[in-house]
Amino acid sequence: MYKRILVIVLFSVLVPVAAFAQDISFTILYNNVPHNEELTTAWGFSCLIEGLEKTILFDTGGDGEILLSNMEKLKVDPQKIDVVVISHIHWDHRGGLLSLLDKNHEVTVYLPASLPQDFKEKVGRKGAKVVSVHNPVKICKSVYTTGELSGFAGWIKEQTLVIDTKKGLMVVTGCAHPGVVNIVRRAQRLLKKEKVYLVLGGFHLLAYSEPQVKRIIKDLKAIGVEKVGPSHCTGGKPIELFRETWKENFFDLGCGARLGNAESPKVK
Ligand SMILES: [Zn+2]
Ligand SMILES: [Zn+2]
Repeated sequence: MYKRILVIVLFSVLVPVAAFAQDISFTILYNNVPHNEELTTAWGFSCLIEGLEKTILFDTGGDGEILLSNMEKLKVDPQKIDVVVISHIHWDHRGGLLSLLDKNHEVTVYLPASLPQDFKEKVGRKGAKVVSVHNPVKICKSVYTTGELSGFAGWIKEQTLVIDTKKGLMVVTGCAHPGVVNIVRRAQRLLKKEKVYLVLGGFHLLAYSEPQVKRIIKDLKAIGVEKVGPSHCTGGKPIELFRETWKENFFDLGCGARLGNAESPKVK
């Protein structure tokens, strides 16, 4: 009996403390870039971020069935997700959301304000709390969204996740339609921090020429980006150029890859 009470007391004290002391980790649940052969590789992007005050799913890939089956194979329980952030309107980022909500609707979903009203309503009808994001918002301790940014692609508005860590900012992009350099600078301005520790996600450089990609690499280096994990719509050749430049500070983040612990600093 006493033992049981002790366990309950210890558990209630230790769990929140442990959750904060943990390192941040990123698990790629959905990606067109292959990595773990047991998973289904399909066009789109989804990344689970753990070790923060809240467990965050950033984007949901293009297909709910594939997302849920990849989660199952990686032993990721949908119930542990607290927050979902959808970067932008493209289906390869929001296509899996409604299926995920069928498994767990006790979540807060941060949607770009520019998404169609009927989609926001569908998300709300599943029982999730919807936050329509236009301006920057704090999601939880040390975690922010940049709010809707737009860039060269004009009409495509996209939000980016920024985590403020002791080693510098960590920036998670969906497709980076507003331009990855532009996004990183916005993150610096938003948090009033210079140091950028990690940028990962889709950098959307598929259609860029080699000199254009090299220019972007030069800009990110000038900003001082320490580590990179370009994937999804970055493109094969651009990914190789990033790998050559960042060397051991480059991460392959294909479908099922996990980045965490030693590589990842604690939150502020
Ligand atoms: Zn995409
Ligand atoms: Zn896109």
